[in-house]
Formats: sequence, structure tokens, C-alpha cells
Amino acid sequence: MPLKAEIEPIFFVDAMLGNIARKLRLLGYDSQYFSDIYDEKLIDNARKEKRIIISKDEELIKKAQKLGMRSVHIIKEDEVEQFLEIINIINLKRIQINRDTARCPKCNSVTKSVDKDIIKEKIPQGVLKLNDKFWICKHCNQIYWEGTHIKNLQEFVGKVNERLQQSIRR
Ligand SMILES: [Zn+2]
Repeated sequence: MPLKAEIEPIFFVDAMLGNIARKLRLLGYDSQYFSDIYDEKLIDNARKEKRIIISKDEELIKKAQKLGMRSVHIIKEDEVEQFLEIINIINLKRIQINRDTARCPKCNSVTKSVDKDIIKEKIPQGVLKLNDKFWICKHCNQIYWEGTHIKNLQEFVGKVNERLQQSIRR
């Protein structure tokens, strides 16, 4: 099967892997996720939208493979390791945080930069003082800034990239 490297991969993340779904979204990857969904429905939806299934559930992976669907079977417990399992199979073009491409970790929708003045009423004073750049989800209107979750993600991304470098050097 030829790899369509130019097409950005899109995912359907299994219910057990919410943290992975949120990270993929923040990194800009369209990742469908529901905390409560039947295997059949997940497979059906993923198939219709040509999404790659990411799951820890061996049965689900087997079903997907039988149908000729692309999937990533997650085995490891550690999130850095889990991300490396994904990268091992799917060529992710970027593993970096970019406010322009980040998707909403809550709802998977695209986000856009928003002027501080427009949202100042909705944000705690302390946050306003410390931050100049904000962005907002076009769907659920959640507002984001470079807070702790971005710092944590940056750390995570650093660890993943470090591991990738190590495997290249080997
Ligand atoms: Zn949203």
C-alpha cells in the first residue's frame, strides 16, 4: 500500500487513551475521541472518515485490521512510550506546539488567535497580567493561553523528541 505522506493523518482514539487524544489535538492532529463508545460504532465512524484507530484493546485492533483499516495497537503504559508507538507506525510530520495549528483539547475543533481585549472579561486578572497571547476554540469557545497545560505538553514533547533523536543515533 503506498504511503500518502502528504496527507495529514487523522485519528480515532479509543476511550482508554484520553490523554493521548488531548495531546494529539494540541499538536494539531484531528483526533476524534469519546469517553464512552461501542467498538462497532467506533469502527464504523473511523471507517467512514478514514481515521486511523489508536487503541489498547487487542480485540478492537483485530476487528479493524480484518476490515483493512489502519490502526495503532498501544501496549505500553507510559505516555511517552505510547507516543513513540504511534510514531513508529504513523509518520507524524510535526511534534511541536504551534498555536496556529493547535486544536481544542476539549472538543477537537480548530482554534484561532484572539485579541486580549476581546476576551479580557472572561479571564482572571492574574492570567491577563502574565500573558499576552490567547487563542480560542471556534466551536466550544474555550479560551487558552500559555498556562501550565502547555508547559506540561512542552516538557512531554521534549521527552518524545529526545527519545526520537536517540533512536536515530543508534
Ligand atoms: Zn473546543
